[in-house]
Amino acid sequence: MRIVLLGAPGAGKGTQAKKLIEKYKIPQISTGDLLRAAVAQGTPLGKEAKSYMDKGELVPDKVVLGMVEERLKQPDCQKGFILDGFPRNTAQADALDKMLVSINMPLELALSIDVPFGDLMKRLTGRRTCKSCGQMYNIYFSPSGKEGACDKCSGELYQRDDDKEATIEKRLKVYESQTAPLIDYYGKKGILVRVPGTGSIDDIFGKVTAALGKVA
Ligand code: AMP
Repeated sequence: MRIVLLGAPGAGKGTQAKKLIEKYKIPQISTGDLLRAAVAQGTPLGKEAKSYMDKGELVPDKVVLGMVEERLKQPDCQKGFILDGFPRNTAQADALDKMLVSINMPLELALSIDVPFGDLMKRLTGRRTCKSCGQMYNIYFSPSGKEGACDKCSGELYQRDDDKEATIEKRLKVYESQTAPLIDYYGKKGILVRVPGTGSIDDIFGKVTAALGKVA
């Protein structure tokens, strides 16, 4: 199964991707996670990326494309993958298309998780992530049992630097202008499925897996 997850920041792509990994045993490729790891390690790529991420802007395409190409070559992607947070604009989508056609693994589905714009700010400001295992929580909608600690592994929960209000506004604007056009892009290719991203995490997951049933 080769899929792209589309949706605004805060739509729940990462949360659904984590559940998809467990169910379908295919890797999630999150460019945001890969970039944050590079920033944490202080690599040259991470240093370049950080200045853009802190402002809520997109990291230059060439940086992200190189990273994705490397990752897709890993053997675990042979049986499929979930791209999360990539592509973010039509230039990246075109490049991805070429990359996948050249390795004979074209995309099968673009799944858009649709959340009303007004809900996104609270979802993003409330988001907390476990430092150890990456499990995600929301202090308003799905808090951990013990404040600040992960239910799964007791790891420390943190708020992403770019989940602060000023940066969020910029990220949502960037989404509207650069990423939302991908819905049309994949619609025209005939591989788009849209799922409402409201309700409980498990309700949404039910709709996601029903949509994926067609390609699984
Ligand atoms: P995310 O975790 O997907 O919300 O990404 C966090 C930040 O990483 C974004 O605001 C961008 O600065 C950067 N980023 C993640 N994915 C991409 C991408 N495909 N292209 C450019 N920048 C990206």
